[in-house]
Amino acid sequence: MVSAVEQRRPTYLVTLNAQYLWQMARDAAFREYVLSAGLIVPEYAIVWAARRLGTPGLEHIGGIVLLREFLAVASRKGFRVYLLGAKTDVVATLAEQLRRRHGPGFVAGWHDGYLSPADEEEVGREVRQLRPDAVFVAMGLPRQDWWIRKHGSALGVPLCMGVGGSFDVLAGLKPDAPLWARGRGLEWLYRIYLDPRAYLRRYMTVNAWFVLQVYRARLRRR
Ligand code: UDP
Repeated sequence: MVSAVEQRRPTYLVTLNAQYLWQMARDAAFREYVLSAGLIVPEYAIVWAARRLGTPGLEHIGGIVLLREFLAVASRKGFRVYLLGAKTDVVATLAEQLRRRHGPGFVAGWHDGYLSPADEEEVGREVRQLRPDAVFVAMGLPRQDWWIRKHGSALGVPLCMGVGGSFDVLAGLKPDAPLWARGRGLEWLYRIYLDPRAYLRRYMTVNAWFVLQVYRARLRRR
């Protein structure tokens, strides 16, 4: 991530998980775009599946952990970031916290993730004008990835990363999953516990589908 910025190399980063694979299985254009990413970071489900399919050695890095680490390094290196996504109060709170922690220039700009077509153009213009080093897009998938595909290369921003619901957690407005869940790829269980209406159906469907795919692939290999 740092070298993408330092070498001004336009890089789309995906933290790949079961939800991405589910969406990719249903949408060939999305699949193609995700597979074109310059950096693909495997989340726990991918590491788990790879082990079962005979490819050990991948390490799990959670998207939020990665983002936190990167923000700290980015600040030391003098990079500037743009935050796009989540509700206005969430992203405003996060921008304010980051500016307090890393200096007022650290957050080049921000916008909430509920964009009308006019807002979309406006955000594109703003990002081109502000020239941040990284744009984090927190609108959930596939919306965030489509935004990056549509605008990413035209923006001249080295690093674009889709970060899902991370702004809510980083801003402290939603609790991060407890350690027992984080180390074991069980963040989804915690999210269901916090908000069953939003997540129960989604995770039950996606996870069941994913586990089935992995075991089917395993059988085929045998
Ligand atoms: N969101 C957004 N614009 C939209 C829909 C959602 O900015 O049109 C935000 C939402 O506020 C939340 C994030 O996208 O902060 C996605 O959260 P979710 O938990 O659905 O996605 P995940 O983390 O599972 O990718």
